[in-house]
Amino acid sequence: MVNHSPRQALQSAAAELFRTGEDPRSRELAENLAAVHARIDRAMELAQRSDRPSLIVVTKFFPAQDVARLYRLGVRDVGENRDQEAAAKAAEVRELLSHDLVGEPDSDDPSREPRDAEQDLHWHFIGQLQSNKARSVIDYADHLHSVDRMSLVKALIKVSTQETAAEETQAPLRCLIQVDLREPMPEDGRGGASPAQISALAAAIDSAPGLSLSGLMAVAPLGEPAAPAFNRLQLLSAELRETYPQASMVSAGMSGDLEEGVASGATHLRVGRDVLGERPLQR
Ligand SMILES: *Cc1c(COP(=O)(O)O)cnc(C)c1O
Repeated sequence: MVNHSPRQALQSAAAELFRTGEDPRSRELAENLAAVHARIDRAMELAQRSDRPSLIVVTKFFPAQDVARLYRLGVRDVGENRDQEAAAKAAEVRELLSHDLVGEPDSDDPSREPRDAEQDLHWHFIGQLQSNKARSVIDYADHLHSVDRMSLVKALIKVSTQETAAEETQAPLRCLIQVDLREPMPEDGRGGASPAQISALAAAIDSAPGLSLSGLMAVAPLGEPAAPAFNRLQLLSAELRETYPQASMVSAGMSGDLEEGVASGATHLRVGRDVLGERPLQR
């Protein structure tokens, strides 16, 4: 995970523009990234926080080319919320980046080999996931932020067991339980698991060799200030960590409320619009 300071982000962006011959979209992305990092800096200062949260850039709706541009600007964590789109994009990005060479041109530098983006570009799946898509997601994603029900955990256990048997090296899928922070919580099953369901889901994930329990995720409820909701998430996280100290990820904060995420102690921010621009309304 790369946690650039704004200055580093700008420097690497400048170096990149030099190398790419001023691709205007790369310039725009670099500027947006620098602005988001500056907001994170400021929020950390205000919260007197010294541990920098990781930035996951949410690239849903945007093309593989943009993910490749972001990669060249130093981004190593991207988020997607639809399996079909994400699976195709991950394959395309791998192809695009396989043409990038590491090292200086016109040198006999032995490191001048195609980049292995697969090794260091991390795909975070952040959308509601149908159980029949578990197999697909496990192939390209290394984090799943949206575990919200036992039937999904069972599907994940099944496919991860098969994958592990077929391929010894498969790393465990890092799972975050998505928590519905709405109070009172409607029973529409859309915003995640209820706080009362966390411990059973956590136990099931923790007992599966192909999965690892990494923490909690939430979206701030509509029509409520984000700060108190994110603080409730922190309390739930502290409770979870009493039993599972390794489950330390707290994924909270988007374009509109990343400051509240930083202030609450989130370890991961998921920012789309403020880096990539407005999404089209229809997919
Ligand atoms: C789209 C999305 C984001 C990013 O939202 P922005 O407002 O574009 O920053 C974060 N989290 C989830 C779950 C999303 O679906």
